[in-house]
Amino acid sequence: MKYYSTNGIVSNVSLNEAVIKGLAADKGLFMPEKIKQLPQEFFEQIDTMNLQEIAFRVAEAFFGEDIPADDLRKIVNETLNFDIPIVQVKENIYSLELFHGPTLAFKDVGARFMARMLGYFVKGGNGKSVNVLVATSGDTGSAVANGFLNVDGVQVYVLYPKGKVSEIQEKQFTTLGNNITALEIDGCFDDCQTLVKSAFMDEELRCKMFLTSANSINLARFLPQSFYYFWGYALLKRMGREREFVVSVPSGNFGNLTAGLFAKQMGLPIKHFIAANNRNDIFYNYLQTGEYNPRPSIATIANAMDVGNPSNFARIISLYNNDYNAICKDISGATFDDRQIAEGVKRVYSETDYLLDPHGACGYLALENSLGEGQTGVFLETAHPAKFKETIEDILQQEIQIPKKLQEFMRGEKQSVALGGSFKEFKEYLLKEVLHEGREIYY
Ligand SMILES: *Cc1c(COP(=O)(O)O)cnc(C)c1O
Repeated sequence: MKYYSTNGIVSNVSLNEAVIKGLAADKGLFMPEKIKQLPQEFFEQIDTMNLQEIAFRVAEAFFGEDIPADDLRKIVNETLNFDIPIVQVKENIYSLELFHGPTLAFKDVGARFMARMLGYFVKGGNGKSVNVLVATSGDTGSAVANGFLNVDGVQVYVLYPKGKVSEIQEKQFTTLGNNITALEIDGCFDDCQTLVKSAFMDEELRCKMFLTSANSINLARFLPQSFYYFWGYALLKRMGREREFVVSVPSGNFGNLTAGLFAKQMGLPIKHFIAANNRNDIFYNYLQTGEYNPRPSIATIANAMDVGNPSNFARIISLYNNDYNAICKDISGATFDDRQIAEGVKRVYSETDYLLDPHGACGYLALENSLGEGQTGVFLETAHPAKFKETIEDILQQEIQIPKKLQEFMRGEKQSVALGGSFKEFKEYLLKEVLHEGREIYY
């Protein structure tokens, strides 16, 4: 299968190249040339299949032409070695809990899948190693670091702003060791981001070491998220509630929602999507007016959705051939401010005992406001509430428990390399790493 760029300037590339490059040379996002339909028989039997089997069938439709079935099955099984349960919150509203992975965030699945696919391609490349650079303000770094841990041939450098991430977040990427190196930068998140961007543009670094990124623009990270939608449908079908299936997706960069739109085009009977935003309502406004006006992000208590220019918007436009009416037919929008999110978390907890996190709360509230007669709503619960401990405790005015998995990170020993924040120092560090390790990295 070939992959085209949403900017349409460069020619189509192979899966291998799309995954290793991440972004196309014309700065567009890669999209598969065709989307395969899954057969009727698959949907009829989906309620008898387990998560790994469903995910494999979906992955095969995407990647089966390029990766042999045994290798692909291994990638899928190693990615999904945890459960994704569904919990009924109200009569017609269910929570699909995507947060049972190692860092308790839904980004674990995409990060783990991408790591294994990259590892597979590197292995085919004569023992050369790939260096992944990732700048983080907290959450992405932990999912990527844990996802890539111990993947052969892949070195990960996590750049994070000194003193600006919470202790628990810091522990999640500084205690791993092995192929994961944490770089503590004397600066803010934007400085980290700038260092990474400068490295990608640096001629000398680019020819001496193989560099790639691991954010949600990479198709190997966002596309596997379509598994959730098939799995959610299968779980509803087991309960006989799969008709009139509405999915609500807490959205920031729109990778998750875009993966759902792919699932629908592959034949999954999803009635309707809701894109749930916090106050960063750029997509909501687009649906209301047909005009897309990106703007700087606003800080909210659902901070993983504080995005002012969603990177996957270009993929949605491309998927619908820029047909605004067709987009509005499939997706509606919703937006909630901090006060509404906080009231929602509090009310749902007191009414139902179910504790939402601030992101999932947007998804839940959107369903509560809009579900029609006979419809069943599923919202994607994208993070465990304990990841936002202070916010939740502030809202509920009571202490909440930290799950064991998070506590275990706290016991690890922080290891990081302190860097000043100038590009010169960062570049020298990377070049020394290459020499010191004696790795063969010329690609
Ligand atoms: C990343 C993230 C989101 C937004 O997902 P997108 O795919 O970027 O739209 C929502 N909730 C949480 C907890 C996240 O970490």
